[in-house]
Amino acid sequence: MIPFNKPCVIGKEATAMKEAIEQTKLSGNGPFGKKCTDWLEARLQCEKVILTPSCTAALEMTTLLTEVGEEDEVIMPSYTFVSTANAFALRGTAIRFVDIEPNTMNISPDAIEAAITKRTKAIVVVHYAGISCDMDAIMDIANRYGLWVIEDAAQALFSTYKGRPLGTIGHFGAISFHETKNFTCGEGGALIVNRPEAVERAEILQEKGTNREQFFKGMVDKYTWRDVGSSYLLSDLNAAYLSVQLQHADLINKSRLRAWRQYYDALTDLPEVEVPYVPSECQHNSHMFYIKTNQQQELIAYLKKHDIMAVTHYVPLHSSHAGKKFGKFIGEDQFTTTESEKIVRLPLYFGIGEEAVDDVVTHTQAFFNT
Ligand SMILES: *Cc1c(COP(=O)(O)O)cnc(C)c1O
Repeated sequence: MIPFNKPCVIGKEATAMKEAIEQTKLSGNGPFGKKCTDWLEARLQCEKVILTPSCTAALEMTTLLTEVGEEDEVIMPSYTFVSTANAFALRGTAIRFVDIEPNTMNISPDAIEAAITKRTKAIVVVHYAGISCDMDAIMDIANRYGLWVIEDAAQALFSTYKGRPLGTIGHFGAISFHETKNFTCGEGGALIVNRPEAVERAEILQEKGTNREQFFKGMVDKYTWRDVGSSYLLSDLNAAYLSVQLQHADLINKSRLRAWRQYYDALTDLPEVEVPYVPSECQHNSHMFYIKTNQQQELIAYLKKHDIMAVTHYVPLHSSHAGKKFGKFIGEDQFTTTESEKIVRLPLYFGIGEEAVDDVVTHTQAFFNT
């Protein structure tokens, strides 16, 4: 059986976790956490990285940092994961779903601009499959209307747009280390803070609204309750696991890229099938390989019969129960629904062998040739 995903394991994670146990410092922002954030800040060349329990938590932090409320509106694609929208629904902010571009499945800048009202406060962009949104166009719109830009870069760690790492272009970026992502620690995430003036508040929000971080840095004598917040910390046990994955980031990327390329080369000429489009200004992290076909369900069933687990992806949020309650679609749903019904994601994970990919390719070709 070829699974859709296998959580990435390098093999040295247990050793690092044992070390964390021996250091007797298991809570957040411990030695391994520091190792991860130092490494990420250097690699991403960004102002500040904060490790969080999930990307969902990092997105929630952005709604506090941007101070969106019940009077405000936020624009985002309907074609995304629940957490992108849920973070704003928690604040009572009205969600305005807009259409995607069919070639990348990423938010359409024209649709964003058409949805802006006097109440609009933020735009959330999602870099689907680790391939960047049109960030020049989006930042230009945000600058003209004075809007926050949050990058849901859950899938996009180490992808770039015109050489700039995703998550570092908007005001804030959110990363996921869930087991389905390229680099993992089971459950985990990170908030990228690209505004120096927002760093201190982000640290307070992370520490239940206290200035505990300043206390540890010796900046204040005792820590007190300063603001709202929550426990947005990643345990050092998880950070230990994560640190090993980050150290091997290039190895992981290489393995995934090899499989991605193999799929791309083998399936690109298959009639009636679309393969992912990567704009020339984007470098991606091979998070996902999908094809688009009008026979989505049939292909998935056929592959399953041959022990290959391929899957669909998002049901557009504007068509969901909560999506209707907390938001609405602005403009025409030209591509979101129709394109989402074509997506079939093929197995792709660290260490997937050439033969396994070949097996998936052969059966996919056989499906279309019969
Ligand atoms: C995975 C994912 C999330 C959620 O990440 P968690 O770490 O599980 O909270 C959010 N947005 C997108 C686009 C994702 O792919």
